[in-house]
Amino acid sequence: MHDTFPLLQNSDFPRIQRQKLEIFQLNLGYLCNLSCSHCHVNASPKRTELMAKDTIELIFEFAIQNQIKTFDLTGGAPEINPQFRYLVKRAVELGIKVIDRCNLVILEEPGFEDLAGFLAQQRVEIVASLPCYLQDNVDKQRGKGTFQHSIAALRRLNALGYGQEHSGLKLNLVFNPQGASLPPPQQSLEQSYKQHLAAQFGIVFNQLFAITNVPIQRFGSVLISHGQFESYLQLLRDNYQANNLQGLMCRNTLSIDWQGFVYDCDFNQMLNLPLGDKQTQTHLRELNFANLAQQPVHTLQHCYACTAGQGSSCGGALQ
Ligand code: SF4
Ligand code: SF4
Repeated sequence: MHDTFPLLQNSDFPRIQRQKLEIFQLNLGYLCNLSCSHCHVNASPKRTELMAKDTIELIFEFAIQNQIKTFDLTGGAPEINPQFRYLVKRAVELGIKVIDRCNLVILEEPGFEDLAGFLAQQRVEIVASLPCYLQDNVDKQRGKGTFQHSIAALRRLNALGYGQEHSGLKLNLVFNPQGASLPPPQQSLEQSYKQHLAAQFGIVFNQLFAITNVPIQRFGSVLISHGQFESYLQLLRDNYQANNLQGLMCRNTLSIDWQGFVYDCDFNQMLNLPLGDKQTQTHLRELNFANLAQQPVHTLQHCYACTAGQGSSCGGALQ
């Protein structure tokens, strides 16, 4: 795999500072049942990194002390982590909102048949990736058969009340472009998704989040192989919108890796970029939470993916 890191240096991205910390985004490990071409984690069934229970306990300690309101669970496939259900249950007991970034296919894997029921019982918000509503595009990006499994999983979630009006069980879908382009306008794309999924499969969901691909890890490497890395970066820079800076997720979120090291965001975690202006990685144990607000965010050229066009964050477009 090509290394994108040297190509992201000498950033002229504006300096940004953290605001009040509200969300822990926990990366429970890089093991995944899929190995998608757009993956910024380089996750796959061959990865072995998984967050252990003692790290989870440490996270709870700091979450309680710092009144963290939301856990945003990601991976890999976060549900594969053997501690996933313990983590969710304990967080819910503590009144922490839990978001599960789910690839849908995991809900149909052998041994995970009761996972959807568990998520519904715990009232976990699901943010599910479905990079297109057309089978060919999804199978091309995520692997053969993934579209049909995703549709089966969405039907399963709908049957449990997810995405249904008044159920309170939120089901949001994530779109990301197939290649080196910006996402189309989120609102009109959401309408197309809703119409198509309802008409073809009787599927409903709450919101669509359109997310821009970040040129790092597997996606960045594919761009280099196709000679598109520089032009994609230029596309991101040409579409820079300063008014997206205010809503950047790195301003209120702390990304924590499977070993308990902290980063400004999940993308920076994948680039091993130390938090803020630090020179080396910081562990949760060493973090001074009181000083975190107003600290600088560690930015490089990949940050232009978050500010291009309508903007991009874990919650979709910023505008
Ligand atoms: S994009 Fe998501 S589902 Fe696909 S390999 Fe990466 S972590 Fe797994
Ligand atoms: S890539 Fe990370 S650090 Fe850079 S702007 Fe986006 S969220 Fe912030």
